[in-house]
Amino acid sequence: MPSFKCRDIGMNCGWEASASNVDELMKKIAEHAREAHGITEIPQDLVEKVKSAIKE
Ligand SMILES: [Zn+2]
Repeated sequence: MPSFKCRDIGMNCGWEASASNVDELMKKIAEHAREAHGITEIPQDLVEKVKSAIKE
């Protein structure tokens, strides 16, 4: 099950999430980024960073 920790991309944030697949997890991450970090649209370099931080 893929999981992600906000901390792993250098955020000072204790949020973590897991989902049944990467697409679902990316949706959760996008929602969290918007609500907690004010990132309305995740730039491509951040997407890459997030993807490399996801543990399967
Ligand atoms: Zn966060």
